[in-house]
Amino acid sequence: MAKPRLAFFSFASCEGCQLQFLNLEDEILDIVPHVDIVEFREAIDNHSDDYDVAFIEGSITRPADEAKLKKIRERAKVLVAFGACATNGGVNRIKNFQPLDDVRKCVYGDKWNIPALDTYPTKSVAEIVKVDFNLHGCPSSKKDILELCRALLQGRPPRVPDYPVCVDCKLAENLCLFHKGDICLGVITRAGCDQPCPTVGARCIGCRGLVSDHNKNAAQDVLAEAGLTTDDILREFRLFQAYAEELPVAKK
Ligand code: SF4
Ligand code: SF4
Ligand code: SF4
Repeated sequence: MAKPRLAFFSFASCEGCQLQFLNLEDEILDIVPHVDIVEFREAIDNHSDDYDVAFIEGSITRPADEAKLKKIRERAKVLVAFGACATNGGVNRIKNFQPLDDVRKCVYGDKWNIPALDTYPTKSVAEIVKVDFNLHGCPSSKKDILELCRALLQGRPPRVPDYPVCVDCKLAENLCLFHKGDICLGVITRAGCDQPCPTVGARCIGCRGLVSDHNKNAAQDVLAEAGLTTDDILREFRLFQAYAEELPVAKK
């Protein structure tokens, strides 16, 4: 059987998710013999239009990106949104809440009006093309990347947690930040990262995006005790949750 051909593409991003793939180090040696990596700018010089699985890192921020992404979708049998920038627009999406010219001036100073900088809002990959699988997080976790690679090779769907970070945080016996008078988005954020932030006493800021039905789970009681609603906490944590205010599917 022919090996699946993997291609990695980068749009508006820091490329930290691609780096995370390379950071797999020992584990990557188990994967590499079973696949052909035909495009991966951070690791190889090759380019190819012939691939089975396309990993899309980054959010879509220009009309030219949109056209390129559609071409990739036409060629790929499986398309993976790789990291928060791709799955929901990530940090890049906060620009959608400011006048776009102000954002351009802030970032590019007196060069803000060059034509290449379109006044185009940040979009996730799924707002442009069909996505088969999501790798959540900023960056995506090594565990999720490995699970997806194994699932693709075994021809099964990947196992992705759809319960809140709180579940694993409590199993790790961390003292909850709400009990320290702080707040934390772990109550409605998708687990799977092994809760590195609350484990060291830092807020979960929701880089893995929201669990399904985040307005219906037990988080409502936790938030109510702190005098908050889901909308309040999403505004507080807009850094990674801007999409929740913009996309109908995320508002459920
Ligand atoms: S999700 Fe985070 S680590 Fe990945 S490309 Fe975007 S900003 Fe970088
Ligand atoms: S709210 Fe934050 S600190 Fe508290 S249990 Fe959930 S993840 Fe842990
Ligand atoms: S605890 Fe929250 S912010 Fe930290 S890595 Fe996990 S999902 Fe991201």
